Amino acid sequence: QSQELSEAQIDYHAALQALVENGTRMVCTGRMHTDRICRFESLCYSTEAEEFIYFHSNSSVMLPNLGSRRFQPALLDLSSVEDHNTQYFNFVELPAAALKFMPKPVFVPDVALIANRFNPDNLMHVFHDDLLPIYYTMQQFSDLDLEARLFFMEGWSEGVHFDLYKLLSNKQPLLREELKTLGRLLCFTKSYVGLSKITTWYQYGFVQPQGPKANILVSGNEIRQFTKFMMQKLNISLEESSSEEYIVVFSRTINRLILNEAELILALAQEFQMKTISVSLEEHSFSDIVRLISNASMLVSMHGAQLVMSLFLPRGATVVELFPYAINPEHYTPYKTLATLPGMDLQYIAWQNTDREDTVTYPDRPWDQGGIAHLDKAEQERIIKSTEVPRHLCCRNPEWLFRAYQDTKVNIPSLIHVIRQTVKSKPGLKKQKWSGSLYPGKVRDAKCQASVQGTSEAKLAVSWQIPWNLRYLKVREVKYEVWIQEQGENTYMPYILSHQNHTFSENIKPFTIYLVWIRCIFNKNLLGPFADVLLCST
Ligand code: UDP
Repeated sequence: QSQELSEAQIDYHAALQALVENGTRMVCTGRMHTDRICRFESLCYSTEAEEFIYFHSNSSVMLPNLGSRRFQPALLDLSSVEDHNTQYFNFVELPAAALKFMPKPVFVPDVALIANRFNPDNLMHVFHDDLLPIYYTMQQFSDLDLEARLFFMEGWSEGVHFDLYKLLSNKQPLLREELKTLGRLLCFTKSYVGLSKITTWYQYGFVQPQGPKANILVSGNEIRQFTKFMMQKLNISLEESSSEEYIVVFSRTINRLILNEAELILALAQEFQMKTISVSLEEHSFSDIVRLISNASMLVSMHGAQLVMSLFLPRGATVVELFPYAINPEHYTPYKTLATLPGMDLQYIAWQNTDREDTVTYPDRPWDQGGIAHLDKAEQERIIKSTEVPRHLCCRNPEWLFRAYQDTKVNIPSLIHVIRQTVKSKPGLKKQKWSGSLYPGKVRDAKCQASVQGTSEAKLAVSWQIPWNLRYLKVREVKYEVWIQEQGENTYMPYILSHQNHTFSENIKPFTIYLVWIRCIFNKNLLGPFADVLLCST
């Protein structure tokens, strides 16, 4: 690999002189270590000390300049998992003059993205924590293009899904171990450190039980831009006009099995009158699975990382997630959250085995495959008797692992019943039309005119113009919401109106100042911004 770095010719002496004279320059975005990404010039790394090095000189820059807060707890998260204490990034500082006494630096000419993969052997983690965040971090900084090079510093070997990481850039990603072969002191000419968390939708339960992230910022559109990119790289074309509809059963072959899979496949085929095929990570290539899923009407699978592949389903398709006995589907929702992201346009259905007879447990397996033989007798008994795993933190709860690694005989009538409650006719009837949710702008030119009748009655005539963007849009239903608030009061009277003017007479008093708030609403739930408040005196 080492010869790859020398591809681009750099003037070694000029580079060394620049490093000694200018030192390291760092400018970051983000206010906290959890949302920070830093851009460096001349960030170095000692492969012996396994430390990043910041060299001070007369021209170096360090923004933010945090002082010792840089260690409380760190400068930034190196993976996309929030505030995980095994994933922190920091550097040690040296004067540039110390370079005289150090090994000769090897310069990395490529623009580098330096980050940690979180769990590269688990497909859910690969997509959610690594691939999507890397892809969108690269979209954020224009010099992180396809010629950039990824550096994975978590210390793992390539892992089974390394080919997927390779799709993100034209250069081979480098692992921490490989850096040793390049030299003792590496200096990255230009680098970005850290990953954007803007696309992540799930927290794994390190500080509170797992669940959707509190503030999800990604929609189906961005997910699909990413899958489109991945499919192009995998040479998979989107077959728009493929006629035949079919169901995919994504099976696991090592654990958490569906025991009556053949029966399940037959039943689905019969019920929905569709071809039903079964795939697994062990028996199919990744490309083949993507090709099949990207045209499927329904994806059926046991809870598990392989379900992250619903990322590739076409709009309108249905995801059916099967949960083993005693596992409450509401408590484990990475795939439900994905399927129900705004604009993903997938139907999500959970089915749970509620029948003890239909589950097969493995108490004698090793603890990490759900065995419980290492626990004391009373605890084993409690777990075996329990009908639901209580909410818990990640990652080694034995009761959770015991239940998660059960095999299940799927009760076919019960499953079909649950699917039928949501899928009335054929699944995946692709209502492909872009129902795009665009929001109205502010209403314009709002005016009011007051009239007083006698000492106790008054009227307020309010009018406004349509939002500027409405004249370029076809909108099914346009309504206006008007709030009338007496100045100094903290309550208001709300109205929903269909026209661009209205005369208010109820509860309008003479010789009073009213604040009038107006906003436009498209299709019942697309609320626009309020226009500047209108002051009206009767
Ligand atoms: N896996 C698989 N077949 C199996 C068991 C696991 O393909 O029979 C894959 C799974 O999709 C995931 C990885 O192996 O990518 C780790 O599985 P594990 O059960 O540890 O994680 P989970 O699926 O519960 O997230």
